Amino acid sequence: MSHHDPQLPLPLPAPPRAQDQPLLPVRMVNEWVYCPRLAWLMWVEGEWADTDDTARGQRVHAATDEGGGRLPSPENTARGDDPMARARSIMLSSDRLGLIARMDIIEAADGIVTPVDVKKGKRPHVDKGAYAPERVQVCLQALILQDNGYDVREAALWYAGSRERVRVELTPELRASALQAASDLRLAVSCGHRPPPLDNSPRCVRCALAGICLPDEINWFGDHDPPRPLNPADDPAMPLHVVTPGARIGKKGGRLIITPPDGEKVKTPLINVSDVSLYGPVSISTPALTALFRQGSSVAWFSTGGWFNGMATAAALRSAHVREAQYRAFFDAGRCLRLSRALVEAKIRNQRTLLRRNWRAENGEDGKSDILTRMKRLHERCPHAPDESALLGLEGEAAALYFRHFSKMLAQHDPEGMTFDFATRNRRPPRDPVNAMLSFGYAILTRTLASILSTTGFDPWRGFYHHQRPGRPSLALDMMEPWRPLIADSVLLTAVNNGEITPADFIHNGPACAMKTKARKSYLRVFERRMEVKATHPLFGYRLSMRRLMEVQIRLFARHLDGELRDYFHYTPR
Ligand code: SF4
Repeated sequence: MSHHDPQLPLPLPAPPRAQDQPLLPVRMVNEWVYCPRLAWLMWVEGEWADTDDTARGQRVHAATDEGGGRLPSPENTARGDDPMARARSIMLSSDRLGLIARMDIIEAADGIVTPVDVKKGKRPHVDKGAYAPERVQVCLQALILQDNGYDVREAALWYAGSRERVRVELTPELRASALQAASDLRLAVSCGHRPPPLDNSPRCVRCALAGICLPDEINWFGDHDPPRPLNPADDPAMPLHVVTPGARIGKKGGRLIITPPDGEKVKTPLINVSDVSLYGPVSISTPALTALFRQGSSVAWFSTGGWFNGMATAAALRSAHVREAQYRAFFDAGRCLRLSRALVEAKIRNQRTLLRRNWRAENGEDGKSDILTRMKRLHERCPHAPDESALLGLEGEAAALYFRHFSKMLAQHDPEGMTFDFATRNRRPPRDPVNAMLSFGYAILTRTLASILSTTGFDPWRGFYHHQRPGRPSLALDMMEPWRPLIADSVLLTAVNNGEITPADFIHNGPACAMKTKARKSYLRVFERRMEVKATHPLFGYRLSMRRLMEVQIRLFARHLDGELRDYFHYTPR
């Protein structure tokens, strides 16, 4: 039997719930009241991002999450058998309401039960002493308890920041609005439409998902104001590359321990590692893998020579939303062609930009403007390419021009008087140092994009332009096209022209040429420096690191594929 305050009406009838609909977590209703899009992103698309704020919240909840205490049965509580009790971290649900909640604290005294939700911050100075989303959340917890047969008269919020307790009265208005919010969220989920972002709202400033939701960026496409820089400008965690043959990676506490076959162990906090790449015979322990997957980091395996063998990620993608949009676009031949045209156009534009900016005066200006004009004509023809083979033709013609003049961007002499000879692009195996570096750079870039694509919900193996082949991450190769000149080629130029890699850093074996370990280490150092360089986003005007820029672009691309954004622009700096 349920117990209700006779002064208060019974809760509204529960909204209808389809048999196969899961119970709705009450926490999601809190998010829905804060921002409908936030609840959608978390509940439907399974998105989450840790920030300093959320980490603080987890610390505050640590004590309650451990559980403890005992919640007496409704009958014992009603009889007053257990006059005082307190239980922590109790999961309860109500099928009738279609709701489930983990309750931080449940207090029972004199036959009456009170749910208390713990908040990390200070009590807000609003008229009812608590924000609406929090009152709705704890009210729904109270309704679940009532549905489980407990007598609940009120609820409470505990603000750890100011150590204050706020009483939440279960008024008919609060009950009605809480159930309405749950019903609205359920309806939105069943309709399958992601709610639009809030417009210039201060809520976005505090929102952990701002970098994933991209509220101002999405609104910008709808002619709103320029975006505020809500996005984290860079990622404090960095990739870890282990290239020393025979090294082992283990885990101790919150750290990764890298043990080379000889020499000093290297320790690094797990939270400082965004993802891990292993080159050649390097091993990693299961505890280290598990800890990396738990924090959402991927692990990739390369051959010693830098061939990208594969990648493992956490099984954390709870939603197939982005992949559905990706596959729908893949099965639409017209759309694939449009997407491919834009990719190739952006790639040629960026190749041209790199040539224009880095053509060295010492190599003579002869023919420069003619080459640039021809490349411009090629990218201008891309949007009109009638089919894929025409597009391949334009791409090939541009690549031939670009690589024929690639050496114009290289300093002609290194300090030891040796030069990098480069005539044309070749691979499998690369036959000269420049080709060895190009192949290595493209492999690292493929891995970087495959990792971002996985994190953002894509299937990296199914592309629009690159055809399906076993072991080929086609979408990563597609999305890499505009970035090849900007990252991999540019890193090569920096490493060579600054003398960080010299012709002596390569091994020649028959026709093949490979990078020595020292060269790979130097290349990776320059690569990571390049990924940290801040660039101004050409549309939004704020600065962010190359790594974040790639992620923002890929998230916008997902929004384009699922129909939220009509247009998508590749990153093509001037
Ligand atoms: S960033 Fe703003 S619009 Fe996006 S989910 Fe957060 S609060 Fe909502």
